[in-house]
Amino acid sequence: MNEARKLRLATVSLGGCFGCHMSLMDIDEHLIELAGKVEFDRSPLTDIKHCGPCDIGLIEGGVCNAENVHVLREFRTHCRTLVALGACAINGGLPAQRNHLDLGQCMRAVYGTRPGMDAGGIPDDPELPLPLDKVHPIHEVVRVDYFLPGCPPSGEVIWAFLSDLLAGRTPRIEHPALRFD
Ligand code: SF4
Repeated sequence: MNEARKLRLATVSLGGCFGCHMSLMDIDEHLIELAGKVEFDRSPLTDIKHCGPCDIGLIEGGVCNAENVHVLREFRTHCRTLVALGACAINGGLPAQRNHLDLGQCMRAVYGTRPGMDAGGIPDDPELPLPLDKVHPIHEVVRVDYFLPGCPPSGEVIWAFLSDLLAGRTPRIEHPALRFD
């Protein structure tokens, strides 16, 4: 008898702090169960640089720069189900605090006046991704299938959410497990 195909899971951090990924790692012993059910594509557990065809893509972080746009579009193209994981992916989160400021002034203030950073000027190596004028939630760039709020969502909630998805059920996280802080 053929074994059921393992689902393929990818994750990435755009403009985030990696806290949502740490929460994913916080599912603790369920990681073993998860590894039994999925193959990991691009994720902190692999050395894959570009997401391939996947069943589930988890996106942490908002869209802060040109590389974020590229990576996010690549995920949307390759992932059947795309999940905005955490506040930054859903509404820009903490990085979006800069949206009411002028980006040029911000850069000049940081790289021109901060002690230890005032010698080199604003970094302009062509390898560096160009920052966007504003930080965007991911749904402003691509279609998103699910939104899992929280800063970060707890490991317990992430596991409940993934368990439903992996079982082919529509995830339903209710209050009080569903939190926005
Ligand atoms: Fe970090 Fe919170 Fe943003 Fe997740 S939602 S990346 S924990 S700041």
